[in-house]
Amino acid sequence: MSKERIIFCDFDGTITVNDNIVAIMKHFNPAGWEAIVERILDKSISIRQGVGEMFALLPTSRKDEIVAYAIGNAVIRDGFGEFVNYCKEQNIKLLITSGGIDFFIYPLLKPFPIPHENIYSNASSFEGSVIEILWPNKCDEHCQTDCGMCKTSIIRSYDANRYERIIIGDSITDFEGAKLVDTIFARSHLVDMCEQLGYAYYPFDNFFDIMKQLEAEPVA
Ligand SMILES: [Mg+2]
Ligand SMILES: [Zn+2]
Repeated sequence: MSKERIIFCDFDGTITVNDNIVAIMKHFNPAGWEAIVERILDKSISIRQGVGEMFALLPTSRKDEIVAYAIGNAVIRDGFGEFVNYCKEQNIKLLITSGGIDFFIYPLLKPFPIPHENIYSNASSFEGSVIEILWPNKCDEHCQTDCGMCKTSIIRSYDANRYERIIIGDSITDFEGAKLVDTIFARSHLVDMCEQLGYAYYPFDNFFDIMKQLEAEPVA
Protein backbone atom coordinates (compact mmCIF):
# COMPACT_ATOMS: atom_id res chain seq x y z
CA MET A 1 0.00 0.00 0.00
CA SER A 2 1.40 3.37 -0.91
CA LYS A 3 1.75 6.12 1.64
CA GLU A 4 -0.33 9.23 1.87
CA ARG A 5 1.49 12.42 1.02
CA ILE A 6 1.54 15.21 3.58
CA ILE A 7 3.29 18.54 3.10
CA PHE A 8 4.56 20.81 5.88
CA CYS A 9 5.02 24.17 4.21
CA ASP A 10 6.79 27.12 5.79
CA PHE A 11 5.37 30.62 5.32
CA ASP A 12 7.98 33.40 5.69
CA GLY A 13 10.54 33.31 2.87
CA THR A 14 8.79 30.26 1.40
CA ILE A 15 5.17 31.11 0.56
CA THR A 16 6.13 34.77 0.73
CA VAL A 17 9.21 35.93 -1.19
CA ASN A 18 10.75 37.59 1.87
CA ASP A 19 10.78 36.96 5.60
CA ASN A 20 7.98 39.09 7.02
CA ILE A 21 9.38 39.29 10.54
CA VAL A 22 12.68 40.61 9.22
CA ALA A 23 10.81 43.01 6.91
CA ILE A 24 8.77 44.41 9.83
CA MET A 25 11.90 44.86 11.96
CA LYS A 26 13.86 46.49 9.15
CA HIS A 27 11.03 48.90 8.40
CA PHE A 28 10.17 49.96 11.96
CA ASN A 29 13.78 49.48 13.06
CA PRO A 30 13.34 49.40 16.86
CA ALA A 31 16.66 49.73 18.71
CA GLY A 32 18.22 46.38 19.48
CA TRP A 33 16.46 44.08 17.02
CA GLU A 34 19.59 43.22 15.01
CA ALA A 35 21.46 42.07 18.11
CA ILE A 36 18.54 39.75 18.91
CA VAL A 37 18.67 38.24 15.40
CA GLU A 38 22.39 37.60 15.86
CA ARG A 39 21.75 35.81 19.13
CA ILE A 40 19.12 33.61 17.46
CA LEU A 41 21.50 32.76 14.62
CA ASP A 42 24.42 31.93 16.89
CA LYS A 43 21.97 29.91 19.02
CA SER A 44 22.69 31.75 22.27
CA ILE A 45 18.91 32.22 22.56
CA SER A 46 16.05 30.12 21.18
CA ILE A 47 13.87 31.17 18.26
CA ARG A 48 10.95 31.55 20.68
CA GLN A 49 12.84 33.83 23.01
CA GLY A 50 14.26 35.91 20.17
CA VAL A 51 10.99 36.40 18.31
CA GLY A 52 9.26 37.30 21.56
CA GLU A 53 11.95 39.84 22.44
CA MET A 54 11.92 41.43 18.98
CA PHE A 55 8.17 42.05 18.94
CA ALA A 56 8.31 43.35 22.51
CA LEU A 57 10.37 46.22 21.04
CA LEU A 58 7.30 47.40 19.11
CA PRO A 59 4.62 49.53 20.81
CA THR A 60 1.02 48.42 20.31
CA SER A 61 0.12 52.06 19.69
CA ARG A 62 1.49 51.45 16.17
CA LYS A 63 -0.61 48.31 15.64
CA ASP A 64 -2.51 49.50 12.55
CA GLU A 65 0.67 50.67 10.85
CA ILE A 66 2.56 47.46 11.63
CA VAL A 67 -0.25 45.17 10.46
CA ALA A 68 -0.82 47.21 7.31
CA TYR A 69 2.87 47.26 6.50
CA ALA A 70 3.28 43.50 6.97
CA ILE A 71 0.31 42.69 4.75
CA GLY A 72 1.03 45.33 2.12
CA ASN A 73 4.72 44.50 1.85
CA ALA A 74 4.47 40.72 1.42
CA VAL A 75 4.65 39.13 -2.03
CA ILE A 76 3.33 35.61 -2.57
CA ARG A 77 5.79 33.35 -4.40
CA ASP A 78 4.90 32.31 -7.96
CA GLY A 79 2.76 29.23 -8.33
CA PHE A 80 1.46 29.12 -4.77
CA GLY A 81 -2.22 29.37 -5.77
CA GLU A 82 -1.76 26.65 -8.36
CA PHE A 83 0.09 24.57 -5.79
CA VAL A 84 -2.80 24.82 -3.29
CA ASN A 85 -5.17 23.63 -6.02
CA TYR A 86 -2.78 20.86 -7.07
CA CYS A 87 -2.62 19.50 -3.52
CA LYS A 88 -6.41 19.51 -3.35
CA GLU A 89 -6.79 17.64 -6.64
CA GLN A 90 -4.16 15.08 -5.67
CA ASN A 91 -5.55 14.60 -2.15
CA ILE A 92 -2.27 15.74 -0.67
CA LYS A 93 -2.71 17.12 2.82
CA LEU A 94 -1.18 20.60 2.89
CA LEU A 95 -0.32 22.07 6.28
CA ILE A 96 1.08 25.56 6.64
CA THR A 97 3.60 25.31 9.47
CA SER A 98 4.94 28.74 10.19
CA GLY A 99 7.15 30.37 12.78
CA GLY A 100 5.51 33.66 11.74
CA ILE A 101 2.72 35.56 13.43
CA ASP A 102 -1.05 35.21 13.01
CA PHE A 103 -1.74 38.90 12.31
CA PHE A 104 -0.08 38.72 8.88
CA ILE A 105 -0.36 35.02 8.02
CA TYR A 106 -4.17 34.69 8.11
CA PRO A 107 -4.87 37.81 6.03
CA LEU A 108 -2.22 36.85 3.46
CA LEU A 109 -3.56 33.29 3.14
CA LYS A 110 -7.17 34.38 2.96
CA PRO A 111 -7.36 34.32 -0.88
CA PHE A 112 -6.40 30.63 -0.90
CA PRO A 113 -8.74 27.75 -0.03
CA ILE A 114 -6.76 26.39 2.93
CA PRO A 115 -8.79 25.23 5.94
CA HIS A 116 -8.14 27.27 9.07
CA GLU A 117 -7.16 24.18 11.06
CA ASN A 118 -4.37 23.41 8.55
CA ILE A 119 -2.57 26.65 9.40
CA TYR A 120 -0.15 26.60 12.34
CA SER A 121 1.58 29.77 13.51
CA ASN A 122 2.38 31.84 16.53
CA ALA A 123 -0.28 34.19 17.85
CA SER A 124 -0.14 37.73 19.15
CA SER A 125 -1.69 40.05 21.68
CA PHE A 126 -1.95 43.82 21.33
CA GLU A 127 -3.49 44.25 24.79
CA GLY A 128 -0.40 45.56 26.57
CA SER A 129 1.88 48.51 25.74
CA VAL A 130 4.13 46.36 23.50
CA ILE A 131 3.34 43.46 21.15
CA GLU A 132 3.24 40.16 22.98
CA ILE A 133 3.77 36.95 20.99
CA LEU A 134 1.77 33.94 22.18
CA TRP A 135 2.80 30.33 21.61
CA PRO A 136 -0.14 27.99 21.04
CA ASN A 137 2.07 25.37 19.29
CA LYS A 138 4.98 24.83 21.66
CA CYS A 139 7.48 21.95 21.58
CA ASP A 140 6.34 18.52 22.78
CA GLU A 141 8.43 16.38 25.17
CA HIS A 142 10.62 15.14 22.29
CA CYS A 143 11.85 18.58 21.26
CA GLN A 144 14.35 20.58 23.31
CA THR A 145 14.83 23.37 20.76
CA ASP A 146 12.27 25.81 22.24
CA CYS A 147 11.00 26.55 18.75
CA GLY A 148 8.01 28.68 19.65
CA MET A 149 5.97 27.11 16.86
CA CYS A 150 7.31 23.55 16.89
CA LYS A 151 7.36 22.00 13.42
CA THR A 152 8.84 18.73 14.66
CA SER A 153 5.99 18.22 17.13
CA ILE A 154 3.50 18.54 14.26
CA ILE A 155 5.54 16.35 11.90
CA ARG A 156 5.90 13.65 14.55
CA SER A 157 2.14 13.53 14.98
CA TYR A 158 1.91 12.08 11.43
CA ASP A 159 3.13 8.47 11.48
CA ALA A 160 6.12 7.92 9.16
CA ASN A 161 4.77 4.45 8.29
CA ARG A 162 1.56 5.86 6.95
CA TYR A 163 2.65 9.20 5.50
CA GLU A 164 5.26 10.32 3.04
CA ARG A 165 6.31 13.45 4.91
CA ILE A 166 7.50 16.39 2.84
CA ILE A 167 8.85 19.71 4.09
CA ILE A 168 9.10 22.95 2.11
CA GLY A 169 11.18 25.68 3.67
CA ASP A 170 13.97 28.19 3.58
CA SER A 171 15.54 28.87 6.95
CA ILE A 172 16.20 28.18 10.63
CA THR A 173 12.60 27.41 11.55
CA ASP A 174 12.79 24.46 9.11
CA PHE A 175 16.12 22.96 10.21
CA GLU A 176 14.82 20.56 12.85
CA GLY A 177 11.79 19.47 10.83
CA ALA A 178 13.91 18.78 7.76
CA LYS A 179 15.85 16.19 9.76
CA LEU A 180 12.70 14.09 10.22
CA VAL A 181 11.03 14.01 6.82
CA ASP A 182 11.28 11.85 3.68
CA THR A 183 11.61 14.72 1.23
CA ILE A 184 13.01 18.25 1.55
CA PHE A 185 12.29 21.15 -0.79
CA ALA A 186 14.75 23.87 0.10
CA ARG A 187 15.89 27.35 -0.72
CA SER A 188 18.28 29.82 0.92
CA HIS A 189 19.66 28.86 4.37
CA LEU A 190 17.92 25.48 4.30
CA VAL A 191 19.96 24.60 1.19
CA ASP A 192 23.15 25.40 3.12
CA MET A 193 22.04 23.23 6.03
CA CYS A 194 21.27 20.30 3.73
CA GLU A 195 24.65 20.69 2.02
CA GLN A 196 26.46 20.79 5.36
CA LEU A 197 24.68 17.74 6.74
CA GLY A 198 24.71 15.84 3.45
CA TYR A 199 20.91 15.60 3.17
CA ALA A 200 19.26 15.07 -0.19
CA TYR A 201 17.01 17.97 -1.14
CA TYR A 202 15.30 19.55 -4.11
CA PRO A 203 16.08 23.23 -4.62
CA PHE A 204 13.18 25.43 -5.71
CA ASP A 205 12.58 28.98 -6.87
CA ASN A 206 8.82 28.77 -7.11
CA PHE A 207 5.93 26.40 -6.50
CA PHE A 208 5.85 25.26 -10.14
CA ASP A 209 9.27 23.66 -9.53
CA ILE A 210 7.82 21.78 -6.57
CA MET A 211 4.76 20.55 -8.48
CA LYS A 212 6.98 19.34 -11.32
CA GLN A 213 9.09 17.31 -8.91
CA LEU A 214 6.07 15.88 -7.05
CA GLU A 215 4.65 14.78 -10.39
CA ALA A 216 7.94 13.19 -11.45
CA GLU A 217 8.34 11.19 -8.27
CA PRO A 218 5.93 8.37 -7.45
CA VAL A 219 4.61 8.34 -3.89
CA ALA A 220 7.02 6.47 -1.62
MG1 LIG B 1 10.92 30.69 6.57
ZN1 LIG C 1 10.39 22.28 18.99
